[in-house]
Amino acid sequence: MEGISGQVAIITGAARGIGAAIGKRLAAMGATVVLTARDEARLMQLAAEIEAAGGRAEYEAFDLLDEATVERFAAGIQQRHGGCYILVNNAGVGRMGKPLWETAPADWDAVMDTNLRGAYLMIRAFAPMMIAAKAGHIINISSLAGHNPLKNGAAYSASKWGLNGLTYSVAEELRDYGIRASVIAPGSVNTGFGGGSSGKNPSRKIQPEDVANVVAMLVTQAPQSFVSEVLLRPTFKP
Ligand code: NAP
Repeated sequence: MEGISGQVAIITGAARGIGAAIGKRLAAMGATVVLTARDEARLMQLAAEIEAAGGRAEYEAFDLLDEATVERFAAGIQQRHGGCYILVNNAGVGRMGKPLWETAPADWDAVMDTNLRGAYLMIRAFAPMMIAAKAGHIINISSLAGHNPLKNGAAYSASKWGLNGLTYSVAEELRDYGIRASVIAPGSVNTGFGGGSSGKNPSRKIQPEDVANVVAMLVTQAPQSFVSEVLLRPTFKP
């Protein structure tokens, strides 16, 4: 499948930042985007913007940490659309700023549960529909912190190293069904991620739209091949 017009694309963490840019981009390419995150007001606003621009957007607010809610969401998508062609696991939290030994277990859990278990729950819910359709593309948003050490961000780094391994493994599990799984590992992106200012020059950072461009490239790759991973760096060091 080379075009995505008319296909359903689900994006987690679509309330703002990278996920919102991916939602806009895939909608502009003709997909029906399903925007998810916890912040319903922001999702509603983004869906309205997409529709005003001539795109098709739905939204559903839920917490990725809640297994039963993820299952209910997936059942609703199956009922309304019969499945989805694209799943972008983008939602993530940082909880950085402390060495590992000072990191509270609750912060460790929030990072692992959102960044790693959330992707697992979504794949668990949607892979069976993709397998039935013998088509699909799963894109997981990792980080260069999933390739490098990250001082004062060990839990975050570990979650993204884990997400890379999960993606490569699930790609092997799904490729026989014509389903592709890819991971994107960006460096610093100009979003509000993590709250405070990093002291980096925002205009030199990767922009959310740059990540969305990579997603657009991956989902339009001709069906006989797929890109396993993209490492995305800013041209000038921010
Ligand atoms: P962001 O602006 O903070 O957005 C994070 C998104 O995740 C929000 O839409 C948030 O929405 C959602 N989210 C968080 N916890 C959730 C939960 N429990 N259930 C459902 N949704 C949840 O961050 P971003 O920069 O766009 O980051 C997106 C992804 O890119 C993350 O995986 C991040 O690790 C990765 N990344 C970011 C950078 C960077 O420098 N910004 C670099 C490399 C990789 P709600 O709060 O409304 O739920």
